[in-house]
Amino acid sequence: MKYLASFMIASTLALSVNPKECQATVDKNFDYHVDRFADIEVLRYEVPEFDRLTPQQRVMLYYLSQAAQTGRDIIWDQNGKYNLQIRKLLENIYTNFSGDKDSKDYKAFEKYLKQVWFGNGIHHHYSTDKFVPEFSQDFFINEVSLLPDSVLPLNEGQGREELIEVITPVIFDPTVMPKRVFQDGSKDVIVNSASNLYGEGVTQAEVEDYYNSLKNPNDSTPVSYGLNSRVVKENGKIKEEVYKADGLYGPAISQIIFWLGKAGDVAENAAQKAYINKLIDFYKTGDLKLFDEYSILWVEDTDSDVDFVNGFIESYGDPLGMTGSWESYVNFKNQASTKRTETIASNAQWFEDNSPVDSRFKKEEVKGVSAKVINAVMLAGDAFPATAIGINLPNANWIRAAHGSKSVTLENITEAYDMASHGNGFNEEFVIDEPTAKLMEDYLYITDMLHTDLHECLGHASGQLLPGVDPDALKENGSALEEARADLFALYYLPDQKLIELGILDNPEAYKAEYYKYMLNGLMTQLNRIEPGKDIEEAHMRNRQLIAGWVLDHGKKDNVVELVKKNGKTFVKINDYPKMRELLGELLAEIQRIKSEGDYQAGADLINQYAVKVDPQLHQEVLSRFATLDIPPYRGFINPQLVPVTDDNGEIIDVTLTYGETYPQQMLRLSNDYKTLGF
Ligand code: ZN
Repeated sequence: MKYLASFMIASTLALSVNPKECQATVDKNFDYHVDRFADIEVLRYEVPEFDRLTPQQRVMLYYLSQAAQTGRDIIWDQNGKYNLQIRKLLENIYTNFSGDKDSKDYKAFEKYLKQVWFGNGIHHHYSTDKFVPEFSQDFFINEVSLLPDSVLPLNEGQGREELIEVITPVIFDPTVMPKRVFQDGSKDVIVNSASNLYGEGVTQAEVEDYYNSLKNPNDSTPVSYGLNSRVVKENGKIKEEVYKADGLYGPAISQIIFWLGKAGDVAENAAQKAYINKLIDFYKTGDLKLFDEYSILWVEDTDSDVDFVNGFIESYGDPLGMTGSWESYVNFKNQASTKRTETIASNAQWFEDNSPVDSRFKKEEVKGVSAKVINAVMLAGDAFPATAIGINLPNANWIRAAHGSKSVTLENITEAYDMASHGNGFNEEFVIDEPTAKLMEDYLYITDMLHTDLHECLGHASGQLLPGVDPDALKENGSALEEARADLFALYYLPDQKLIELGILDNPEAYKAEYYKYMLNGLMTQLNRIEPGKDIEEAHMRNRQLIAGWVLDHGKKDNVVELVKKNGKTFVKINDYPKMRELLGELLAEIQRIKSEGDYQAGADLINQYAVKVDPQLHQEVLSRFATLDIPPYRGFINPQLVPVTDDNGEIIDVTLTYGETYPQQMLRLSNDYKTLGF
């Protein structure tokens, strides 16, 4: 699971970042801002503590980063079957262009290419809607016709004319592949999704029947069915094309294996080497049992400094939540902040025992929740350029129950979000009064970090299913309800005296900063990410609106929270913070019940009542208030470059970091240097 920046406030507020942490890690002169277009801002992030690592660790990070970037083409192809072709075509137009770069068409074309780079394809990374090109079809066709034959990304048997014929509607016709992840359960979610995770003509019913026939309800250690395959129909028969070295995506996977092998040679210890080898075996065979074995070895290695994720991991890109999108995070421990999460994790059982959830749904023994704070060195695949700020893996329920999970907060990413947001005017516009703004200035950074820690290392890890309950029983609402469960767990505990006792917070009022932010974001400001007239789709956004809307509704009789008008503008006003905590506890208990019992209908009712629909008037107000601020709704990152230092024999003996690239430079370099699938 991953935790996204709810950065509408968390990191757009110009906050005094916890000054002690800041001094240790942040270079005041570091330039975070890289590019700005459409609804996107691209930042760069700094890698603190890189110097404290040994040369061998830095070399390992280099090899892992190579393994990360080598997989880039996989996510492009998973996101849509024309994406790699379109990327090559657009990049060729961009680099070969000899016309007027100030023309309206060219400017719009450049913006579109930047959007496509950011989405790893032609759909928005977050809404999953297809981008709308603002340049003309004539411009496009003319530019394609000007390209030299040698650079045309042609499929077999394709000529220039056929290429134009196939690609033009994919880019320009709004009815062709309109949505990457279609989640409206009233229609077939597979047929209506434009991603490439399922083959032509495969229906939702066929996929569900297929996997139901594989699943054994008595299997207590089931593999993650469908995680690494594309389901296709061949001669009317459903089958899986497996992602593996000699299967689908083989050329990319073989190179990943090569670089993982190099990393294994310089591993920090035997445990780390063992899980790298197991991952290689998995990539060679595609055997999901090996992936589970790898996951167990990986989750049990908590000593290593350098760490990484590389694989088909999160299933948000699949409307049925089965196939993993390829991603990679390469990282090492942030020593300064890991202490905080270790304290939380070592008290996991206390939090589980004291939660407001029915005891039947609690874990008697919370197993090895390990938590750490990391510095990212390389983000790749589905984690790039838009990235999570926290991750909790593995995702397999039975592994989490039996072996625990690793929970990770990406400190340097969170810091970059925050540092890049100073002075943008957000709190003056949206926060109701001076005392609340002051509380947020003082405590939002730390309570936000803490919320992420609690969400990841305790929230997702808490609770249990009743025996025999299908982990996928909540179907298309599973992701949003799971995120709600983890958020509620975190929110419920933020005011707890325990955090003061543990020395993590120093003020019993601190939690109010996060509570205010959460309600403001869930009820109002996250709407800035939604286009007028659209519903909320993304799981984390649904979760936030569900929680905020439910609390608003159920607190009405006691006037716990209200929306008030000031000078014609809407503000969130929280009247009773302790009562709000009680309501959050009530909702946590109910959503845990829904999950534990697999109560699909109750989950669907909650989602439909609170999580999806948007008040058009309030929506419009939020959009226009944001418009005056020019704060980008979405942000992502380019990576630093890892530059190898070699000895006289060409052996890599150390690695340095540079940060100077522009966004197009980095994207073009990646497309050129890590081309593994086709064009
Ligand atoms: Zn989560």
